[in-house]
Order: sequence, then C-alpha cells, then structure tokens
Amino acid sequence: MFVKYDFSSGKEGLHVLILGGVHGNEVAGSIAQREIIKKIENSELILKSGKVTFIPVVNEPAFNADARFVDINLNRVVCFHQNPKNNEEKIANQLIKEIDNCDIMLDLHSTHCEGDVEFGFIDYPTEKNQELLSLIPVENALAGWPEIYAKNETIADCCTERYAYLHNKSGITVECGYHKSPKAIEVALESILNVLAYYKIVDLPIMKKRKQNIIKLDSFIIKKSDGKLSRDYKHLSEIKKGEVLAYYDNGEKIVAGFDGYMIIPNHNANIGDEWFYLGYR
Ligand SMILES: [Zn+2]
Repeated sequence: MFVKYDFSSGKEGLHVLILGGVHGNEVAGSIAQREIIKKIENSELILKSGKVTFIPVVNEPAFNADARFVDINLNRVVCFHQNPKNNEEKIANQLIKEIDNCDIMLDLHSTHCEGDVEFGFIDYPTEKNQELLSLIPVENALAGWPEIYAKNETIADCCTERYAYLHNKSGITVECGYHKSPKAIEVALESILNVLAYYKIVDLPIMKKRKQNIIKLDSFIIKKSDGKLSRDYKHLSEIKKGEVLAYYDNGEKIVAGFDGYMIIPNHNANIGDEWFYLGYR
C-alpha cells in the first residue's frame, strides 16, 4: 500500500491532496513531489495555513515494475470495492479515503512519447475546477472525457477526477509531458507550487494564472488486433479528415472523420488497450 506524507500548518485552511504514480511508470509527478517534501521537511518551504498530503507513488507495485498497472488500470476503478479482487482495487479503497479527506486534488500523470507536450484534463468544468486549472502551466486542456466514456460500455470511467467531482471536491489531472523528460518534472513542480501558493498552504507569492485552449474529446480507439499507427504521431498532432491514422495487420484501416487532433497516442498499446483518442477545438 502507498506511503503518504501529511503536513499541517496547525491553522485553519484548505486541505490539498497531491497524487503521483497512479500509473506506476509515470514518475514525473513522483520526483517533483519528493523535491517539495524535502523542502518542507528542511523548513525551506513553510506552511502558513491548512494542510497538504502528498502521495508520490499511489501504485507502488506498478511503480516497482515500471508498469502502468499490475492487474487493471487503477484510474478506471477509483471507487469503493466491497471485495477487492486485485492490486488496483485494493489501492482504490485506500485512495478514496484520501480523496474524501481533501478539499482540492491534483493528480499528476505523464504520457508515452518523447516530445509529448504537457496538458490538463478538465473532466468536470465547474468554476472551482476551472480556477484550479488556471494555476497549471499548460497551454491546452482536454474536456469531454466522461462523455466519450459514457458512449462505451466496455470501459468504466471511475477515475480520480470523477470520484473527486462526485464527492464535491475540486480535482483535475495534469499530464506533465513525456514520462522521463526533465520538462515534465518542471511542469509537475510548478503545478504543485502554484496550487499550494494560490490556496495559501505555503508562504509563496501567488504565481500568474493562465487561460488554456480547451480541446473537446470526440472518441477513442481500442486496439483490436496487431497493427500500427500510420506515422510518428505525437499528442496533439493535427489530423485531417480522410487521413489514415492506423493500419491493422489484416489490412483494415482507421480513417479520421474530421479535421482535429491526435490525442495521447500509445504506439506500444497492447491489444485491448486504448490506442489513441481524437479531439477537436
Ligand atoms: Zn496516467
């Protein structure tokens, strides 16, 4: 089970929860949290009100295996499991208690390809969540995730953001960039510090707010059999209507139905995994 780091100012205020490693191989958020934890422990960063809880590695068994998950994708099963059957359902039961206890949740992830640009998810664009997103150093944010999952019954959408939303918390997800890039760690660091400053948890100047471009998700493609993407797509690569996006080895093609964007392509997806998403502005 995961290790958490609780810090309290001893004064009234908000409780911020920072998550990393919900997917075990997405380490940028874990590294950034460790740096900030060290600063708080060394009194280089002082809490002035409220509380902060850091969980640098939520899925430790997956982290140890440098894998996204061990049994199933944790970020699809974040809810209470009466009889947890596997590693991720057991972690979900522990994780939801932490979300229950917070006011604001920031869930830090990273993506599969070198050169990927950082972006945010705003699944539930409430006023509180838009405010939280404005603190994140990214230019683009994706909306519409719950809607595309509602159309597909094979994959549940029980992610951290949904759980936070259903329990009246602020909560967003940040994809900090490619798992292993130094830039991704910087994005994670700035996101955490901005959030802690803005909600007056730490004694730091409030940094600038941003207004992101919102890209609406349209659909996602599950990889049905062996095949590959037609070119070296990166996250937010532009696509044109009629463009062949991917080929299956049996000759079947996947063709873009509109002008838009390739979202989070996973060139190494296994059969049954989400291969890529499509979106538009
Ligand atoms: Zn992730």
